[in-house]
Amino acid sequence: MNGQAFQTPVEYLKGVGATRADVLKKELGLFNFEDLLNYFPYKHIDRTRFYKIKDINPELPHVQIIARLINKEILGEKHTKRLIAHVQDDTGTLELAWFQGIRWIEKNLIPGKAYILFGKPGFFNGKAQMSHPEIELYSPEILQRKGNLTLQPAYNSTEKLKQFSLDSKGIQKLTAVLLEQYAKDIHENLPLYLINQFKLMGRAAAYRNIHFPEDANKLNEARCRLKFEELFFLQLKLLKTKLLRIEKFKGNIFGTVGNYFNEFYHHKLPFELTTPQKRVLKEIRLDTQRGVQMNRLLQGDVGSGKTVVALMSMLIAIDNGFQTCIMAPTEILANQHYQTIKNLVGDDFIEFALLTGSTTKKERKVIHEKLENGQLKILIGTHALIEDKVQYKNLGFVVIDEQHRFGVEQRSKLWQKNNIPPHVLVMTATPIPRTLAMTLYGDLDISIIDELPAGRKPIKTLHFYEPSRLRVFGFMKEEIAKGRQIYIVYPLIKESEKLDLKNLMDGFEVISKEFPLPDYKISVVYGKIPAADKEFEMQRFVKGETQIMVATTVIEVGVNVPNASVMIIENAERFGLSQLHQLRGRVGRGAEQSYCILMSGNKLSNDGRIRLNTMVKTNNGFEIAEIDMQLRGPGNIEGTQQSGLLDLKVADLTTDQDLLAQARKCVENIFDKDPQLILPENQILNNTLQLKNAGLTWDKIS
Ligand code: ADP
Ligand code: MG
Repeated sequence: MNGQAFQTPVEYLKGVGATRADVLKKELGLFNFEDLLNYFPYKHIDRTRFYKIKDINPELPHVQIIARLINKEILGEKHTKRLIAHVQDDTGTLELAWFQGIRWIEKNLIPGKAYILFGKPGFFNGKAQMSHPEIELYSPEILQRKGNLTLQPAYNSTEKLKQFSLDSKGIQKLTAVLLEQYAKDIHENLPLYLINQFKLMGRAAAYRNIHFPEDANKLNEARCRLKFEELFFLQLKLLKTKLLRIEKFKGNIFGTVGNYFNEFYHHKLPFELTTPQKRVLKEIRLDTQRGVQMNRLLQGDVGSGKTVVALMSMLIAIDNGFQTCIMAPTEILANQHYQTIKNLVGDDFIEFALLTGSTTKKERKVIHEKLENGQLKILIGTHALIEDKVQYKNLGFVVIDEQHRFGVEQRSKLWQKNNIPPHVLVMTATPIPRTLAMTLYGDLDISIIDELPAGRKPIKTLHFYEPSRLRVFGFMKEEIAKGRQIYIVYPLIKESEKLDLKNLMDGFEVISKEFPLPDYKISVVYGKIPAADKEFEMQRFVKGETQIMVATTVIEVGVNVPNASVMIIENAERFGLSQLHQLRGRVGRGAEQSYCILMSGNKLSNDGRIRLNTMVKTNNGFEIAEIDMQLRGPGNIEGTQQSGLLDLKVADLTTDQDLLAQARKCVENIFDKDPQLILPENQILNNTLQLKNAGLTWDKIS
């Protein structure tokens, strides 16, 4: 479709004109021929066969029958006015009903004549019935003419469009004209060897068949071809970006593993690394020896041991004469990293410091000095790390925790801290499905820690309905008697904020009565509380002064209270899967057996039930992310919002995972052999990429 024809404004298509063009633009965002060509039907209606009346039932989609009209009758007055008719074939009788356009039907339906009826069977008074069928006088010639009419496209339309006769049928007419006149201008954009290898339908044929399929097989082939094309070029673009970045950004070479690493590994590391931890370290080790800047995403559940891996990678950087830093999205998290690292390396091993908004001016000054003279080896902090004032002597390795809160720009700000940019390791405890990662982070390398350290007791998750609350209270008391602490989390959703807050307050009251002073002490934290008070309450809980923390989801991602061993989630059916999983991750941090208790009402939606069952069944974040995507679609997964990369036209990352993997592999192979795409057979890809980069086609890859 490199033909300029497709850039023609839609106005100039026969049957459109200025007014309709305007509506098409405003309602559907269709500006030119290409947009229209890519406005695909959302389904096809099967008109390939005729049903017999006895076979009709309300489960069927739109069906087509041939039947003779026996009678018709107008019933009711005004609002209840309707036309009821009966038709018959050699197998039975069917009732038809019209509630609108009655006069026209009354005039044109003639008892005794045979009709072709097309509509969706329904049920009325226990009988099969069809409302507002499309209707057409039957004749043998008509059937012959319809001989090649098979699967009819159905297009989404809007009320506004319908006012301009652009309902599904109207749009179909435009698409038909477009294809008739311009199909010849749809050019192939994949090399022949790929078409052959993947047995793909040609491009023009694919466009014809996705709108007006010759048959069901052809429709499938067309979809498959266009999906492949879409995923293929997305990956081509992403991996090309990666290649360009590799070309552009040299990377420091960490040639040796020296004293810091060895000393730590042999004398300080208090446990054996898990297999995935070792694997990731190796991956990072390889990355940092190639002379190319590393950009790696490390995914792993809370507690899987990402921080240790990050620390050990940083030690290698330090062994090679570089400084390092860890950037966290909140002060609490930065603090925790500081503590973790302090615990692991001790005080006299290496110089490290914490820099956040709360760091005093005096401390800050010292930190700045030591950064500039190279004395300070590890800096841990928040955004404060990338302020312009902060100058490093030789920053070589950067760790960013919880990536989805940092934009690409913030990341690149760190790169500019050195003339050869530091290697970047992005860590996230919100795993996303592999296919999503391949797309969203397609230009990053991805590492995964999918195994918790040995000896960790998996969190036990239980689901209780409201009537079991007393049992839950009893259980809470037992745990508190053992010296444990408990979180109780309430949903707080903007739309129902007031009600939610009331729920929380009511809950708090009940809990206060059940767990009275002076034996029990309770903290409450929610969004509206002033930050200082919130911090105060959190600290009371962290220090163990209170045993129960009643909160909304404001309790920070990553908050670490190892003594808290029970997480109770109220109205659990209202939370999304990844949120439930995140919340559960607040417990299970100590040596004790931990529990996650999901409280719900008796009435559960189907999705709600699946979510709760999934939580009870598995602790694995990757499995949960996969199911979350099946339930909500890729665009709604946490951390993926507003990514233009997911605006796919035909492909669906949930159902087309295999195809995506194939396309990815295929692109990798091509770049392995021909990174510049200069081989003659790949010229066509280069051309398409350039067109896409120039914004000349529909792929609006950001
Ligand atoms: P994450 O950053 O992935 O949430 P951390 O690196 O903070 O996880 O590790 C969580 C806890 O588990 C820490 O106390 C850490 O010292 C410990 N840990 C990490 N790796 C192992 C391991 N291989 N064996 C035992 N404990 C480990
Ligand atoms: Mg962590």
